[in-house]
Amino acid sequence: MNALQYRSVAKTFGDVQAVKPLDLDVPEGGIFGLLGPNGAGKTTLIRMTLGIILPDSGTVSVFGAEGSKVSGATFGYLPEERGLYPKMKVWELLAFFGHVRGLKAAEAKARALAGLKRLGLAEWSEKKVEELSKGMQQKVQLLVALIHRPKVAILDEPFSGLDPVNVELFYSVIEETRREGTTIVLSTHQMEQVEKLCQRIALVNHGEVVLQGGVDDIRREYGAREVKVTFASQAPSNGTLQGLVEEARNDGRAAFYRMADGVRPRDILLKLLQEGCDVSGFEEAQASMHDIFIRVVTGGKGADHVQ
Ligand code: ATP
Repeated sequence: MNALQYRSVAKTFGDVQAVKPLDLDVPEGGIFGLLGPNGAGKTTLIRMTLGIILPDSGTVSVFGAEGSKVSGATFGYLPEERGLYPKMKVWELLAFFGHVRGLKAAEAKARALAGLKRLGLAEWSEKKVEELSKGMQQKVQLLVALIHRPKVAILDEPFSGLDPVNVELFYSVIEETRREGTTIVLSTHQMEQVEKLCQRIALVNHGEVVLQGGVDDIRREYGAREVKVTFASQAPSNGTLQGLVEEARNDGRAAFYRMADGVRPRDILLKLLQEGCDVSGFEEAQASMHDIFIRVVTGGKGADHVQ
């Protein structure tokens, strides 16, 4: 079943078509990356999902039910713009949000304290929110989103402002949350995080879904035409692979060959070995999500040519 299903969902603000009629499925149980450049329409889509704003047309279904009929506690939300009550004690704030979303007071407190411990904030539980650093407040914000174990957690740029150790900690907590059965929608501009965490993605541009599918499938599809070769000694001249490759580049450590139509990776390897090249590594290159993002968003023209 789909956790979220969008059908012909559209939203216009004045003369800006923030979301054009789009269809999108977010399957239950995984980590789904909602990607796109600034202003693409991601936040608008998220806000329509949560019922904060209504679509002009189309339907959003949540586990098969019409979005407007779904309880708010179905969702956990870490918004892009953070906002916590600064004067409240940290554990009380978390317990409050747990309680509001249906937990009994004792359960809410127990989960608040357990969550703070998991995120390394046990000693801060009695402090006021305003006494916490930005990164610590971010951890509290993640706990706010997850305390009631929502069926769907929507995390908008959850890693911004975190140091690398805490980014890893967030990865673990998000992965644990997924294993416990929460479907996670992750909006981020950090493509290496997408590669590590997400099984599926949708890339939104100008209010439209321009690419969607499994991360591995997409990376293979975009990278399949390139091989990466390392040489124990000097790389051969470009003429060696004439007719087999359309383009060759070298980043100083490895050579990358974009294969001509009909050429397979083994054809390249065979030719290199026949020519006596000292090949020390050979692999099919998988395109990075970073490169795919730029290629799709700029129509293949590169970062200087944003459409
Ligand atoms: P970012 O990555 O920068 O957060 P985004 O993909 O979340 O961008 P949105 O915030 O959904 O993008 O914005 C999509 C478009 O809709 C933008 O052109 C934005 O200016 C416009 N927009 C969004 N909300 C409103 C609003 N309340 N009133 C008017 N225009 C809006």
